[in-house]
Amino acid sequence: MATKLLLTFAIYQLIVTVGLTVEPTELLRLGVDGQLSVDPSDMEKASLDFGMMSRVEPLAVFHPASAEDISKLVKAAYGSVRGFTVSARGHGHSINGQAQTSKGVVVEMSGSRGRRLGFGKPALPRVFEEERYVDVWGGELWIDVLRSTLEHGLAPKSWTDYLYLSVGGTLSNAGISGQAFNHGPQISNVYELDVVTGKGEPLTCSEEQNTELFHAVLGGLGQFGIITRARIPLEPAPQRVRWIRALYSNFSAFTKDQELLISLHGRPASQKFDYVEGFVIVDDGLINNWRSSFFSPRNPVKITSFNANGTGVLYCLEVTKNYDESTANTIDQEIEALLEKLDFIPTSVFTTDLPYVDFLDRVHKNEVKLRSKGLWDVPHPWLNLFVPGSRIADFDKGVFKGILGKKTSGPILIYPMNKDKWDHRTSVVTPDEDVFYLVAFLRSALDTSDETQTLDYLTHQNRQILRFCDDAGIRLKQYLPHHTTQAEWADHFGDKWAPFLQRKMEFDPRSILATGQLIFKPSFTTSVASW
Ligand code: FAD
Repeated sequence: MATKLLLTFAIYQLIVTVGLTVEPTELLRLGVDGQLSVDPSDMEKASLDFGMMSRVEPLAVFHPASAEDISKLVKAAYGSVRGFTVSARGHGHSINGQAQTSKGVVVEMSGSRGRRLGFGKPALPRVFEEERYVDVWGGELWIDVLRSTLEHGLAPKSWTDYLYLSVGGTLSNAGISGQAFNHGPQISNVYELDVVTGKGEPLTCSEEQNTELFHAVLGGLGQFGIITRARIPLEPAPQRVRWIRALYSNFSAFTKDQELLISLHGRPASQKFDYVEGFVIVDDGLINNWRSSFFSPRNPVKITSFNANGTGVLYCLEVTKNYDESTANTIDQEIEALLEKLDFIPTSVFTTDLPYVDFLDRVHKNEVKLRSKGLWDVPHPWLNLFVPGSRIADFDKGVFKGILGKKTSGPILIYPMNKDKWDHRTSVVTPDEDVFYLVAFLRSALDTSDETQTLDYLTHQNRQILRFCDDAGIRLKQYLPHHTTQAEWADHFGDKWAPFLQRKMEFDPRSILATGQLIFKPSFTTSVASW
C-alpha cells in the first residue's frame, strides 16, 4: 500500500514537473516493489556521468527491487501507446552520456536500495565454491564481487584497472585490464546471464541456451537487454602480487617485449606474467600518475634521470606476478628468468610487493586523493582506441611523438592483447589483426589559464588524433565507442553491423533501451529508426 502511494505521488510529480509522455495509469499498473523517483538528488545523479560533458535529465529514476521489477517496467515501455525509453545505469562511469535518457526512465542498477533478487533466485552475490563461480546482480560493483568471493578464497580472473564499475556496465563494453592477454576480456569470462530484453522478457542465456541473446548482450552497449544476473567463473585467489615497472626509450624494443610477454599466454603459470600493461610518459616530471600508487612520494622518480633518446618520450612496461605461500620460494627465480628476455633500460627496474586485493584496488586510493583536491569531478574527455599491432609504430610517431606535444593532462595507457582470446560472436568490435593495442588517453580537463589543460584543447586534440589515424589509414576501433551518426556506427561495426541490426530488431524492436549510446532513435512504431 505504502509503495503504491509513493508511486502515485512520483507519477503525479512527473506529470506536473516534467510533463510525463506516458499514460500515468500505465506506470501505476506496473505493480512493482521498487521505487520510482523524481527526487532532485536522484534526478541530478542520473543526469550526469563520469565524463561530465553532457547533462540529460530523465523523466524519472527507478530503483528496482528485483529483476521482475525491471521486466515489468520494460514491458510497460514496450507496450505503451505513447512510449518511453529505459536506460540501465550501472555506476554512471561512462564518458559521453551512454547511460542517460531524456525520454524515459533511468534504472539505477547499483546502490543498496534494490533487494537484488533475480528471477526468483536467492539474494546475490552467491558463491558456488565447488563449481567455482559466482552469481552476481547486474548492478553489483566489481569491488563488491571481489570482496564476496575472497571470503571463499576465490576471485574472478579478468579485471578492469578500476573496480568501482558495475558488472552490467563493463560486460556491455568488454572489461579489460592487464590480464586480458591471458584470460581474455571480462566478456570472455561469463558462464550465464539473466537478461530482460527490450520487450520486457526475462530470459536466461548462455553458450547453450538463448545463445544469440548471450552473444548479443556481451559487448552489446546495452542495446539488447538489461543484465540482471551474471555467472562469473572463479579461480583460487592469489595472496600477494609482485609488481614491476621498467623503462624504455626505444618504442620498438618496448612493443617487441610487450608482444613477447603476451605470446607466452599458453605457457605454464610459472613461465609467464599474470598481467601485462604499459604507459607512455610524455610530460617532464614524475613518472607516477593518478592511476596507481606505485612510487612513494618520498622517493619520486624523475623522467630526466633517464635518457629519453632526445625525443622526450619514455615508455613504461608494467607487469605483475601473483604468488602465495606455495610459490613464494620460486617467485624471484621465475621473475628473473622472464626479465632476462627483455630489453629495458638496465637501471630502470622498480619493484614493489603488496596484497592481491590492494593491487586490484590500486586506482581507488588515488581516486580518494583526487577527490580530496576537487580533481575527480571534472570533465574527462577520454579517448580509448584499439590500434592494430602492425600500425602501432606509426601511431607512436604521429601521436606520442607528434600531436601530443609536451603536456598530456593524464595517464596514457598502452598494452597489447591477443585477438584469439576475444569471441567473435559477441557484439564488441576489435581490429582485424592477431595482436592489437589498447591506447587509452585518460585525461582530465581543468579550468585554468594553461590552455593545454582545457576541455576545448583536449577535445580538439582527440579529434586530431582520430583524423591523423584516418589520414594514415590506421584502421583502429574505438573502445567504449562514441559516435553520433548511424553512418559512423555502421563504419564502427563494419561486418558486424548487419547482424547488430538484426539482433536489435529481434531483442529491442522499439529501440527503447540505452538510447544514450546514440545508435538508434527510440521508435514508437514497429520499425527500428536511426538518428
Ligand atoms: P554505465 O556508465 O552506468 O553504463 C554504461 C553503458 O552500459 C550504458 O549504455 C548503460 O545503459 C549500459 N548498462 C549499464 N548497466 C547495464 C546492465 N546491467 N545491463 C545492460 N546494460 C547496462 N573499462 C575497462 O574495460 N577497463 C578499465 O580498466 C577501465 N577503467 C576505468 C576507470 C575509470 C576511472 C572509469 C571512469 C572507467 C573505466 N573503464 C574501464 C570504463 C568502464 O568499463 C565503462 O565506462 C563502463 O561502462 C562503466 O561501467 P558503469 O557501471 O559505470 O556503466
